Amino acid sequence: MKIIVLPGDGIGAETVAVAVDALELVSQRYQLGLNLQHDIAGHASLKKYGTTIHEGLMESVKKADGLILGPMATYDFKDESKGEINPSKFFRKGLDLFANIRPAKTYAGSGTTYKPLDLVVVRENTEGFYADRNVESGGSEMLITPDVVVSLRRITRQCCERIARAAFELALTRKKHVTIVHKANVLRIGDGMFIDACLAVAKEFPTVQVDDVIVDAMMAHVVRAPERYDVIVTTNMFGDILSDLTAELAGSLGMAASINAGTTYAMAQAAHGSAPDIAGQNIANPFSQICSAAMLLTWYGQRKGRPEFVQASQALEQAVTQAIAAKESTRDMGGKLGTKETGQALLKRLAPTD
Ligand code: ATP
Repeated sequence: MKIIVLPGDGIGAETVAVAVDALELVSQRYQLGLNLQHDIAGHASLKKYGTTIHEGLMESVKKADGLILGPMATYDFKDESKGEINPSKFFRKGLDLFANIRPAKTYAGSGTTYKPLDLVVVRENTEGFYADRNVESGGSEMLITPDVVVSLRRITRQCCERIARAAFELALTRKKHVTIVHKANVLRIGDGMFIDACLAVAKEFPTVQVDDVIVDAMMAHVVRAPERYDVIVTTNMFGDILSDLTAELAGSLGMAASINAGTTYAMAQAAHGSAPDIAGQNIANPFSQICSAAMLLTWYGQRKGRPEFVQASQALEQAVTQAIAAKESTRDMGGKLGTKETGQALLKRLAPTD
C-alpha cells in the first residue's frame, strides 16, 4: 500500500512523525509492505514553492492508495491567487472525499468527567456552508457592500443520499441506530431535503433504527445523554462543530481521529486543527493522528479484502487504549509524557514480543 504523507502545519510535524513510526512498525509486524512517501503541503510548501499545494502533488496522491494529511493552518490561507490554497478543501473536493467519519469514544483512564460515549459523526464533506466547496470557481461568500456579506450554502440530493448511505452502512456494523442532525425548523428547504434523502436511504436499511434531532438541541442531548447515540449523520458545518464537541466529551480533541473517504480514495486526517498554541512544545497528543492512520488501514483492508490491514489497525487501536489506561499519554489525556515519549511508549507496546 502506497501512502503519501504530508505533515501539515503547527503540531503536524510532531504528531505525524509519531504516526509514521507506528505505521512502519505495524507494517513490519503484519507484513503490510507499506510504502510511505513523504512530501509537503501547507506553510512548508508555501515557503518552498510559493503555494500550499505544489505542482504534481495531486497526481502523485492519485497514484497512491491513500493519503495522510497533517493538520493545516486553514485560517492562514486566505488568497488562492497568492498560492494560499486550503489543502483540506483541495483534497476533499479534488478527490471527492464526501464522507468525513469522526468517531468519538471514551477511553478508560482518560480522566474525563463526562458521561461515557461511543459514537461516530458522519459528516458530509463536499458542500454545505463552506464557501470554498460550493462553487466551481471563486467562493460562495460575497461582499455585497463593505458592510454586507452573503454566504451561500449548497445542499444537493445526491450528496445527501451518498452521505446517508455511508452512515447507514456504518450503522450496520455498530448498534444499528442512525440519528439525523439538522436545522430543518429554520433551513426548511435545504435541511428538509437532507432529512427526506436520509429517510429515503433508510428504507434500504430496515434493520437500522432512525430518528432525528435539531442541531442546537443535539448540543445539550449529547452532553446529557450521549449513550442515546450511535451513528450521527449531518451536513458539513454542523458535523464539524458537533464532532469537536464529541471529541472533547470523550476526553480530548487530541483523540479526534478521522478519515475522509470517497469511492476511490481516502485521506486520514485528525479532526482538530494545527493547534498553534501548543506547536513545537512536544505536548500535542499524537493519538488522533495514529488512530486516523489506523482508520485508513481498515478502509484499505476492507476494500481490498486484506485482513492483515484490519488486524494492524486493531493492534494500533488496542495499543492506544492500553496506553491511555496506563497513563502513557500526553497531559490532555491525564498522562505526563511528551509527544515523542508517548510515541516511544506506544512503539514498545506494538513491538513483537516473540
Ligand atoms: P486551527 O486554526 O489550525 O484550526 P486552532 O487552535 O484554532 O487551530 P485546534 O487546532 O482544533 O484549533 O485546537 C483547538 C484546541 O484544542 C487548542 O487549544 C489546541 O491546543 C487543542 N488541541 C488540538 N489538537 C490537539 C492535540 N493533538 N493535542 C492536544 N491538544 C490539542
